[in-house]
Amino acid sequence: MYKYKQVKDNVYVLSLDNHVEVSAALAAFCTEKGILAGKIIGLGAVSEATFRFLNPNTMKYVDKTFTEQMEITNLTGNISQKDGKPYLHLHITASREDYTCIGGHLLTAYINGACELYVEAFPGVEIGRRIDPKLGITLYQF
Ligand code: FE
Repeated sequence: MYKYKQVKDNVYVLSLDNHVEVSAALAAFCTEKGILAGKIIGLGAVSEATFRFLNPNTMKYVDKTFTEQMEITNLTGNISQKDGKPYLHLHITASREDYTCIGGHLLTAYINGACELYVEAFPGVEIGRRIDPKLGITLYQF
């Protein structure tokens, strides 16, 4: 699913295998390393990705899948815990063949080419999440 190199006590460089799904690979890595909180940045190329948009007026999620070759011009995310499992909050910007960009909250993305990620764990820190009853969205719980 991935190869990685530990570059500091709490920092890893990852190279995902081709055709792997990014969110699943990152969750597996966090589980393997016992990372309970941290941050993620990355880049790469995908052939299919599903983005999510939250309409604040209706509070409904709108998901859309794009099946085309795109560069991940930026993937930014954070790591926390929900229900005892890694919870990844990922956002993505991806560029198309015509160099325009689309983006959103990232649900799934399938690598076609490469994906290079940097994961920084926050040692000794555990951050949970829960659904905010007023907003109906899953927020950090401090
Ligand atoms: Fe989001």
